[in-house]
Amino acid sequence: MNAIIEVNNVSKTYGETKAVSELNLSIPSGVLCGFLGPNGAGKSTTIRMMMSIIHPDSGYIQVLGTSALDAKDNIGYLPEERGVYRKMRVGTFIQYIANLKGIRGSQLKRDIDNWLDRVELPGVKKKKCEELSKGMQQKVQFIASIIHNPELIILDEPFSGLDPLNTQTIGSIIHELHQEGKTIIFSTHVLQQAEEICDRIVMIDKGHKVIDDDIAHVHEAHNPNLIQVVPLDLNIDFTSLPEVERQSLTKEEDAYHLKLTADADPVKLIQSIAGSTPIKGIEIVKPTLTEIFINKVAETEGQDAAKATREQLAHA
Ligand code: ADP
Repeated sequence: MNAIIEVNNVSKTYGETKAVSELNLSIPSGVLCGFLGPNGAGKSTTIRMMMSIIHPDSGYIQVLGTSALDAKDNIGYLPEERGVYRKMRVGTFIQYIANLKGIRGSQLKRDIDNWLDRVELPGVKKKKCEELSKGMQQKVQFIASIIHNPELIILDEPFSGLDPLNTQTIGSIIHELHQEGKTIIFSTHVLQQAEEICDRIVMIDKGHKVIDDDIAHVHEAHNPNLIQVVPLDLNIDFTSLPEVERQSLTKEEDAYHLKLTADADPVKLIQSIAGSTPIKGIEIVKPTLTEIFINKVAETEGQDAAKATREQLAHA
């Protein structure tokens, strides 16, 4: 697969802060890639360098085989800084941005109407941007970033400040654009959002890359070898089974986590337990991206750093 973005040994320092440190990335064409990390990890700095808004101190970046400046008509970009022209009417604003990308004509008017309907903002076209709520303005800015039908879409924290319903609306549009074949990168400090829609993830921490892989591989590589079982009778002891190393109550105390031996086959064990024990449910436990990230931080920086990261992500 061809890389649509190549980041080669890129570093960027602000005073004492190494915002991005010797970062290498190769983003394949056609992926929906989550760019993840806690606040301050270096996501926006990297995205701004991809967009040629700021420049690396060292290393270089190629976007669509050239620089983002040369390829700008084929890139959709939602910056972290939100902003619409407050006095402009919504329709005029989107039209103006599309015109800057060389798009005009009657199809553009239809596209604007369709997109406003799609983000559940029908009837706002003639309103001034300043009359809309912050969340509505963000959806208008999102439309403005993709109205020219770009091949590559780069979204910096597209969900921040959106309520759950709007998060879902924008999330499903991102998913659809990906299905249509667009390459999409979006940053978020809420790792769960990426878990739901991405097929690839890049995680960074303090400017360093910690994971860069297909999401299926990430889950496989961090398989906790756990099964969750909800028995009808909580007094049951599964440790008599040779495949079960230990058993512990889950946080909710209504189910058990069974830690399996390294050579156990979880699917076979699930079938065997389901066939022999009265249970309400049983499944393989997949680690969340948040847990994977915290484990990575623990591996590279120790338990104190992992604890701090856990708290930071919990308050995100
Ligand atoms: P993220 O997007 O992951 O939250 P950023 O890329 O915004 O992280 O920031 C990475 C680090 O660089 C942070 O410590 C931040 O304070 C610092 N930083 C980013 N931009 C600037 C700037 N213009 N001037 C000084 N420090 C900056």
